[in-house]
Amino acid sequence: MTGVGRPFPPEISTEAFCEKRGDMQLEQGPIRPPSEAGSLLLRFTRNCPWNKCTFCPVYKGREFSRRSLDEIRADIDSVRGILEDLHSLSVSLGFEGRVSSTVLHAALKRVRCDSTYQYVASWAAGGKRTVFIQDANSLLLPTDTIVDALRYLRKQVPGIRRITTYARSSTVARKSVEELRKMRDAGLDRIHIGLESGSDRVLEFVRKGTTADQHIQAGRKVIEAGMVLSEYYMPGLGGRERMREHALETARVLNAIDPHFIRLRSLRIPPRTPLHQDVLSGRFVPLTDDETVAEIRLMVESLEGIGSTLISDHIMNLLEEVEGKLPESREAMLAVIDRYRTLPPEEKLLFRLGRRGGGLRSFDDFNNPDMRRRLQFALSEFTSQPGVDIEALIKELADQYI
Ligand code: SF4
Repeated sequence: MTGVGRPFPPEISTEAFCEKRGDMQLEQGPIRPPSEAGSLLLRFTRNCPWNKCTFCPVYKGREFSRRSLDEIRADIDSVRGILEDLHSLSVSLGFEGRVSSTVLHAALKRVRCDSTYQYVASWAAGGKRTVFIQDANSLLLPTDTIVDALRYLRKQVPGIRRITTYARSSTVARKSVEELRKMRDAGLDRIHIGLESGSDRVLEFVRKGTTADQHIQAGRKVIEAGMVLSEYYMPGLGGRERMREHALETARVLNAIDPHFIRLRSLRIPPRTPLHQDVLSGRFVPLTDDETVAEIRLMVESLEGIGSTLISDHIMNLLEEVEGKLPESREAMLAVIDRYRTLPPEEKLLFRLGRRGGGLRSFDDFNNPDMRRRLQFALSEFTSQPGVDIEALIKELADQYI
């Protein structure tokens, strides 16, 4: 921020501003990928049209619906209106249209009543670089609707660097490359696909509603259309029975796709999911943290002939440092995995406690004397209490993020 700002103009009264807020609407869904934390969330559809995956709690009990082009445009108009208002405020404060922290502060001071304004203003102050289109499967809309909505967004909100969305492989596989290209040309840069597994048996068991072949077809089409492809692999999804098959088949499918990004999102099983019932009935035996790490190792060492970047950016993952570009970073990624695997049992416990407690992100953190002191203190506090099950406690800590 420069120091060229003039003193604040008289504040617009909160009451006067709140009278205008009827024009502002911005409907949003519940989730986005971790990498879209700074993105503006815009909703093109509501919830998930499939909604049957047994591991997924997100949209259960909510009905899927398509939003009309008019509804989507109205949201985009709200964003535009707020950006124009911020621009005027910025000019009046001498910041030449930039949404500096001073401008943001002045804006937020007078719009305490309006969460939409606050949200868009904070995004604008962050550089308004990226947008994520919600919810689970936006590509189910007709291609022309998506293209119109994207063009309108690019026109009304110039300067966006990247627009991304989630889509299901079964839907993408039904689109032609030409249709996907039209979307790319209209401004859709990246698609995130929940691959979860490359094993047909695992996909069927968890009712993913997609086959390995559809994953491959969809992924190749996205790449052929010129978009960036991000595939989510879910370590642990095969359970103990299909751990090996899950790792090997997932690597086979990813090798066939060669996506730009492979993202790890390890399985957690909240009680409100059908998969939890499978655990209770014994149909599914979840992996331990150590077994999950072994599975990831097998998957990573089975990736061949691709140039994907592997990313471990989800809080559910035990090892956040398993990241890098293939093939050159494979050995470094395996070394991180082996560094954990060769820890003595008591050190593994300490590492897991730190990671699941949320404070620890790397081996550097783990080796920090202060961190170690705190973890050892916490562990001795827990284990000194009669009847405390340390494994149950670690599970509870990990599940807090679901
Ligand atoms: S397709 Fe995605 S959002 Fe829908 S139920 Fe499956 S995992 Fe959940």
